[in-house]
Amino acid sequence: MQCKFVLLPGDGIGPEIVAQAERVLQAIAEKFGHSFEISRHIIGGIAIDQTGDPLPRETIDACKASDAVLLGAVGGPKWDDPNAKTRPEAGLLKIRKELGLFANLRPIQTFPELVDASPLRREIVEGTDILFVRELTGGIYFGPSGTDVIDGHDTAYQTMVYSVPEVERVVRLAAEAARNRRGKLTSVDKANVLEPSRLWRRVAERVVKNEFPEIEYNVVLVDAMAMHLLSRPRDYDVVVTSNLFGDILTDEASMLPGSLGMLPSASIGSSGPGLFEPIHGSAPDIAGKDLANPLATILATAMMLRHAMKRNEEADAIETAVRTVLASGARTADISPGTASVGTKEMGSLIIKSLASM
Ligand code: NAD
Repeated sequence: MQCKFVLLPGDGIGPEIVAQAERVLQAIAEKFGHSFEISRHIIGGIAIDQTGDPLPRETIDACKASDAVLLGAVGGPKWDDPNAKTRPEAGLLKIRKELGLFANLRPIQTFPELVDASPLRREIVEGTDILFVRELTGGIYFGPSGTDVIDGHDTAYQTMVYSVPEVERVVRLAAEAARNRRGKLTSVDKANVLEPSRLWRRVAERVVKNEFPEIEYNVVLVDAMAMHLLSRPRDYDVVVTSNLFGDILTDEASMLPGSLGMLPSASIGSSGPGLFEPIHGSAPDIAGKDLANPLATILATAMMLRHAMKRNEEADAIETAVRTVLASGARTADISPGTASVGTKEMGSLIIKSLASM
């Protein structure tokens, strides 16, 4: 297989963790006889420094011409000036828009070896394996907004808007994912209060009933879901929800496994390349110190092979290598405070060694 991948290392620990993911990609190409054409481009703070633009045209063109994009992270204190003309995060929002990425997929899985790093008790969290599908380009973040003076008071508003096709496409994507997992789909809304949620619920039920009758489907209100995630996270398989609810619930859920450094995510559109990245930021506090955990980015690489290239075997190999290396006791500082055994590069080397021995 021939594939074109674009790497966007970005800022902070981005270049360090993406370098390890690139080594893993090369090891996969060798092991499975693929030819991966890999190029690197700038985004975020480094792009502002070099061009004045957090997402230069040349980066957009390269991403659009690729099969998939792997991103490290953007941002850092150097670019935090609130009066600055532009910010690194603007590059991130723009690339999602340019690639038409309407769904964000976040798997939340606990690794048996790391269960005790979770803030929740082992008996609650052990065995959790949820795939969140968050709508990414609609809803309240993109609805009409503004400020006004009403009855003599400064007032602000932001409107939640959803159309039928926006709900249909993200629910379809989530239902397809559920079909390939344990066959359960939960739609989260606030239909007891919000009109867009009532539309969401009607459309989601129709899509699932008509197109995915084999799927076990239920609906949960977002406030109840916030509680269920802490009391019975194991009950959920695929969870689909709107932009605002997904933003909050996925951050809540990301605490379950106990480390930000282990969690990948994918943003997908209807056609064209998807964007694969760790969920954590650029961790400027540890950048350049060989302390960053590269596993979230390496797992994002597995998602990239699975979702963008439909290569389950290669993705499984990477995920198995991660589990094997964790089982051997290797830990970066974030998943073993005070007793880390390996740094960023060594963790990458262990994954590659494990892949080679399969
Ligand atoms: P962060 O995720 O970068 O860091 C939070 C804490 O987790 C830090 O202590 C950090 O050292 C640790 N951490 C994060 N990733 C780690 C890893 N792979 N290995 C070990 N430890 C890790 O969040 P923050 O500190 O709030 O933000 C730092 C910068 O990142 C900000 O500029 C923020 O805007 C940006 N950010 C970018 C993205 C993105 O690019 N997608 C996401 C979130 C934040």
